[in-house]
Amino acid sequence: MQHVAELVAIGPRPGDSPAAQRAAAYIEQALATAGLHVEREPVGKVLVPGIELGGLLYRAAREVTTTDPNLVVRFGPQTGAALLVMAHYDTVPPSPGAADNAAAVGVLIELARVLAASPPHTPVILAFTANEEIGLVGCGGARRASQDRRRVRDSRWISSAAPARCRSTARAS
Ligand SMILES: [Zn+2]
Repeated sequence: MQHVAELVAIGPRPGDSPAAQRAAAYIEQALATAGLHVEREPVGKVLVPGIELGGLLYRAAREVTTTDPNLVVRFGPQTGAALLVMAHYDTVPPSPGAADNAAAVGVLIELARVLAASPPHTPVILAFTANEEIGLVGCGGARRASQDRRRVRDSRWISSAAPARCRSTARAS
């Protein structure tokens, strides 16, 4: 609950805002306090797919560039098929984002502490992803980066409203 309170106290944390940067800094600090090494993975440019509703184009596909990084912590062996678990740290502009998605970020921070204390036998990657609310930008970046390494066996997204594109299983080929 402490993590949720701290993140909510920052206020709304839309992607690429000073508030989102403060949220990222809070997560890094919490993980560093637990003695964990956090990687800042740049997300950069991501293609956000269009949305069609009942045959009408609701939103066209577009390319989005984000300066917010994904924050990644790795556990277990360096090789082998990995489980990727993600939670996003941004919010929609007017919302303090307690349930969406500070609660999941808090769970992921605590999961990191547990995994640090008892490392898993198979690789686990935790990703605090950037800029999801405008179209799952960070999760696209995290999955793309992980798939490039051909390592992800399965991916899980923790959120009050799990988006299908990020929730679906990513298979290593
Ligand atoms: Zn969300």
